[in-house]
Amino acid sequence: MHWPADYHTHNALCRHATGAPWEYAARAAALGLEEIGCSDHSPMPRDDYDNWRMYERQLAGYVEAVEEARRRFPQLTIRLALEVDYVPGQEDWIRELAARYPWDYFIGSVHYVAEGWDVDNPHRLDEWARRSVDAVWEEYLNRLEASIRSGLFDIIGHCDLPKKFGHRPQSDVLPRYRHIFRAAAEADVALEINTAGWRKDCREQYPARAILEAARAAGVALTFGSDAHAPEEIGAGWREAVELARAVGFTHWRRLAARQAEAVPL
Ligand code: ZN
Ligand code: FE
Ligand code: FE
Ligand code: ZN
Repeated sequence: MHWPADYHTHNALCRHATGAPWEYAARAAALGLEEIGCSDHSPMPRDDYDNWRMYERQLAGYVEAVEEARRRFPQLTIRLALEVDYVPGQEDWIRELAARYPWDYFIGSVHYVAEGWDVDNPHRLDEWARRSVDAVWEEYLNRLEASIRSGLFDIIGHCDLPKKFGHRPQSDVLPRYRHIFRAAAEADVALEINTAGWRKDCREQYPARAILEAARAAGVALTFGSDAHAPEEIGAGWREAVELARAVGFTHWRRLAARQAEAVPL
């Protein structure tokens, strides 16, 4: 069995994950994966923006650590990537990051739904009490759509993240997702199945099956990501994720190299 690549992985540089890129590569090789991507949390324009990402001055060391993993595991294809926060107004910063190194892809993720509030932060659950759940989803979806239309990203990260702690919208968000996925198909941005949701309170992959079905119907391409924050999480839930993708009608996953896409049979 040829497994799809694990394109969403972190490492200790972001200060809330463990292990170096080569340790993630070692785990991937042991599992029989043929390809992974390192996609740690990108630096922000200000290093004191929050406390869960590498500093800008560490970016060169990050690229070097990915190259080290490539040297130690030549049997594995290892992509150089970042999970980049989409924050409205930071488009120029993201373009500047893109120009610095030969990235294979950028995952665009919406974590911030308001100035200073990252919706998936377990230490910031108090913010939920100050807002309606639907209002949070509305802002999240606005930013998700803007991230796709920005043209800055190759993959949409965990596209229903506000459900992480069990906050599900009251209103029907599916029509909104259908609209968003038409934009994704037009912009040729891929969507990931992110298996980390199975390890969170929501107990469900990102995105929910109905949302994945909407993506498939719109013709959006697919990638897979474990969102590993420890080497042993590489490839977590891979069999189930592939089964789900096939059940929903996907026949290919998308390989990304030098920000160019290639369809690979699933
Ligand atoms: Zn993280
Ligand atoms: Fe994320
Ligand atoms: Fe991540
Ligand atoms: Zn993530």
